This record gives sequence, C-alpha cells and structure tokens, in this order.
Amino acid sequence: MELIKQKIIKEGRVEGEDILKVDSFLNHQIDVPFIDELGKEFHNRFKGEKIDKIVTIETSGIAIAYGAARYFNVPIVFAKKTESRNIDDDVYESEVFSFTKQKKYKVRISKKYINKGDRVLIIDDFLAAGSAANALLSLISQANAETVGFGIVIEKYFQNGGKILRDRGIRVESLAMIQAFEKGKVIFKWKIGGEKWKKIYLCY
Ligand code: 5GP
Repeated sequence: MELIKQKIIKEGRVEGEDILKVDSFLNHQIDVPFIDELGKEFHNRFKGEKIDKIVTIETSGIAIAYGAARYFNVPIVFAKKTESRNIDDDVYESEVFSFTKQKKYKVRISKKYINKGDRVLIIDDFLAAGSAANALLSLISQANAETVGFGIVIEKYFQNGGKILRDRGIRVESLAMIQAFEKGKVIFKWKIGGEKWKKIYLCY
C-alpha cells in the first residue's frame, strides 16, 4: 500500500539493527485519518469473508483494529497484557515473547467475548518473529473459534513470522513489507499484482 510506504519513508526511524519506530503515527501519536485509510484497505482485502469479530492485542493494535472495525461493522476484542481481577477467573491465556522488550508476558481474553464458531480477523501493527500472532491464534483456537486471517500494518519479512504463518496455510495481508534494514534505511519488499514479489524500493 503506497500510503503506508510513504508514511514510513517520511516519518519512520530505524533503531539499531532491526526495530522500526513509528511513534508519530502508530505507536504513540495516532494519525486518525491515516488509520481510517488502513481500515478501509483491510476491509477491501477481507470483504469477501464473513467476519464476526476483530481481535488484537493492547495497546497499539486497538486503534488500528478500530479503523478496520468501522468498515466491517463488528466488535473488537483486545487481548489484555495486564492481570485484572474482573476477568481473571474465566479467561483464555497464552504467552508472548516480546521482541522489542526481550521478555515474556501473558495475554488473556475473557471467555465471554469469543464464542465457539466465531470467524475472527486478527489485526496488529507489526508482524516480526510471530510470537504475538501465535499467542492470538492460540486464544482463538482455545475458544473453538476460527481465524480468517491476519491484517498487519508492517511486516518485517526478514524475521520470518509471516512466512511461517503462510506456510501453515493462514492468510496474512500486510500493508507494508520490509525486506531489510540497511545502514538505517528501510528496504521494502513490494507486491506488484498477482502473487509475485517484483520490486524493491529503497527508503532514504
Ligand atoms: P512478533 O511477536 O511478531 O515477534 O512481534 C510483534 C510485536 O512486537 C508487535 O505487536 C509490535 O508491538 C512489536 N514489534 C516487533 N517489531 C517491531 C518494530 O520494529 N517496531 C515496533 N514499533 N514494534 C515492533
């Protein structure tokens, strides 16, 4: 998606070897009209599917999920990272290894909010090694619900999480795919029609 690519080129910042900071529009300040465009695009890509619910992880996923949920007209359920007494008794739980923080944490969803047979679209900001994605898949399968696919804003393709999911037959739609970071620059992997990955753009 050209819009997200331009946004990353303009406002993204590469930190260290493998982190992209997008605080100015996604992870700290939120660019609302931009999020709305992302939501529209996710809806375009998944509109042929029956979707009952959108699932994401707090915090950054929530705004993006909201952008999409407006178009699908479905509720959002977000996995909670913090323990809270009111949901702890009856929850689905799974573990995530945080790539950015280099530590493990648990995520939970109340059993009330995902029902058997629900068709779920998972939305998140980044897909890297796939730990968050796997935790969400686990919560959904514990509920005997069905994952329709993933809508990801930025996939760091070189970290293989997306490849592993696709190899399992899971649909993953990423609006921007990053092939690599080189000397503080972003190299995009870009999909031009069909299933072929043809072009790489350099971001300066
Ligand atoms: P994974 O579980 O796929 O390894 O990582 C996905 C999660 O880690 C995302 O939900 C996101 O919060 C965080 N993350 C991974 N890589 C990046 C990155 O380069 N930049 C930012 N801002 N977050 C990242």
